[in-house]
This record gives sequence, structure tokens and C-alpha cells, in this order.
Amino acid sequence: MSFSGWKKYIEEGDLVIVYMTRENMTPIFMKKGTVFQNRFGVYKHDDIIGKEYGSKLVSSNYRGFVYLLHPTPELWTLVLPHRTQILYIADISFITTLLDMKPGVNVIESGTGSGSFSHSIARTIAPTGRLYSFEYHQDRANLAQVEFNEHGFGDIIKMHHRDVCKDGFQMKDQVNAVFLDLPAPWDAVASAKEAFKQDRTGKICCFSPCIEQVARSVAALDEHGFIDITMYECLIREHTVAPIQKVDFSVAIKDAQERKAKGLPSVESVAIKRKLGKDEPIPTAKEVEEAANLMLVSRTMGETRGHTSYLTFATFLPPSATRIVDESVPENDSN
Ligand code: SAM
Repeated sequence: MSFSGWKKYIEEGDLVIVYMTRENMTPIFMKKGTVFQNRFGVYKHDDIIGKEYGSKLVSSNYRGFVYLLHPTPELWTLVLPHRTQILYIADISFITTLLDMKPGVNVIESGTGSGSFSHSIARTIAPTGRLYSFEYHQDRANLAQVEFNEHGFGDIIKMHHRDVCKDGFQMKDQVNAVFLDLPAPWDAVASAKEAFKQDRTGKICCFSPCIEQVARSVAALDEHGFIDITMYECLIREHTVAPIQKVDFSVAIKDAQERKAKGLPSVESVAIKRKLGKDEPIPTAKEVEEAANLMLVSRTMGETRGHTSYLTFATFLPPSATRIVDESVPENDSN
């Protein structure tokens, strides 16, 4: 069974992501004669085998139902057994994009941890790319290897049990991108530099929870000649969709204009303010006219939550590349 392809029918031995709700999903390998149980009833594996992925299955006592989903790296990140902190989809998608990952690309990642990011990388670079994944914790390395094999990534992910800060990656001229999720990524930067393909540019990213670690990574990247060093913080901004009553401001404005013409005291701003949020500016007559047919339906949350880590990106420059020198600045100008 492969996470990078799709099959239609569920067979014995396949992995099924059993979906109860968005917050409640369970990964289950299909085995004849076995049952899956939740508080709404019993689901027999024998009833699941032969069904199409995506089917809805009603429990044997007809009190509940589940959906039988095909595994994907995104779903695996939500259901995997946590052996460490893991990367979630917001960071995963951002890093994948900025490291230019695509089919055929070779990537290093360390540490492997629970293999959350590894699954997404492997799916992205398949079928010809290779992921060299390094983990110094023996049990985590072994368990990750078992999962990668079970999920059809045995050929794509090359698992290594090694302390990369002490012993390096021991690779030369092989990869396009490097991702470091380690307590001391700066200790692996020199070795990462050697692992890059030496005839083209490459991309590196260090994932660190605190700003002191970012400072040390930036210093190490700069010292080893990486360029375009940039740090991002990936935050999730929630948008609430809320139906908002359509307001005809022109009525309030007309009313205010009539009061003015009759010499009555102006209540224009009060009338309009009552229909706006209390901190929103009063629109001009032109803005009111332009917005007359619009309905606001989305609001962002006041506070942005979700800090996981800082992401420090940099570019590897091959030795053959010529540095662009700003000729307007004399070389010995210390300013
Ligand atoms: N990115 C992973 C994921 O999405 O599942 C999580 C990585 S976890 C936070 C960090 C891992 O790095 C741990 O499993 C730890 O054992 C490993 N690690 C720490 N220092 C290491 C080193 N010097 N060499 C190799 N692995 C190391």
C-alpha cells in the first residue's frame, strides 16, 4: 500500500484512516476476523475489506457510521503515533515550497523524529527523488524505517541512524535541499554544505523554537558562505465566515442630509456609527455607493495563535558561482 498513489478497493493488510470527526480519526490495518469499536458500535474488518476507499460504513448496530479514508501524508500527520514533537501542515507546506521540492529532487532531513515531515517530502519528490533521513535515537530510527516500508516509501527514504552534529552526513555532491529540525542545527551546517550538489544552487532550512537558536544558525550559515539568509515565523490566521446583515448606509446619509437642509442638528455620524463596528471609520458618500451591493462575510480573529518555530532559510552557492560585487563601493571602503 502506498501513500503516494491511490487504490480503489480496500484489501486485507491495507491501511485505512477511519474518520469519525475532523478531530477523531484512527489509522487501522485491515485484518480478517478483527473488529474496530467505538462508542457508537462495532465495525467488522470483514465488512470493510472489498469496500471502496471513501465509503461510508454504518456500524453493525446501526447507531453510528464512519468514513473509510485512503491514507495521505496530510492525514498521517494528524493520526501518527507521536514519539517526538512533529511538524504540522502549515510549516510542512511552507518549507516544501521554499526548499523547491518537486519530483526528482534529493533531500536531507534530520532528525527524523516521528516521520511526519518525511512522509510529505517522500510523496513530493517521488518517484525518482531520494530522502536521506538521519536520526540518532535508535528506537525512533527503527520505528520510522518500519513505517516508511509499510507506507510504500522504502525505496524513496534512505534511513540512517547517526548523530549528524558529531559525525556529519558523510555525503558529498548529492542533494538539492537540506532540512534541519535539531536542537543545534548550526553544528550540522558545515557537513550539509558538502552534501549539496556542487554545480548548482541549493536551499537549506533550520527549524528552531527560540530566537537564540536562530541567531546561532544565521551566524553558522553566514560563516559557511550561504546567502539570502531569511527568517520566517509561520502563524495560522483563522478566518471566521459570518453572515452579516446588509446595511444600506445611503438611507442614513439621506436622512442626515434632510436634517441638515431643515436646519435640524446633525445625527449623521451617530446614525451611521450605529450600523458600523464601533472602531470602523465612517465611509464617505462615494464609498457607500460603491459598497452598496457588497456583503461582508469573513472576519479574521483578533489574535493570531499557533507559533511553532522560526524557520531560517538560506541558499547554497556553488563554488563556481561568481559573487556579484557592487562596483560603486570601493573594496577597501570599511563603511
Ligand atoms: N521533523 C520531525 C517530524 O516532523 O516528525 C520531528 C523531529 S524531532 C523534533 C527532532 C529529532 O531530532 C528527535 O527525534 C531527535 O532524536 C533527533 N536529533 C536530535 N539531535 C540529533 C542529532 N545530533 N543527530 C540526529 N538526530 C538528532
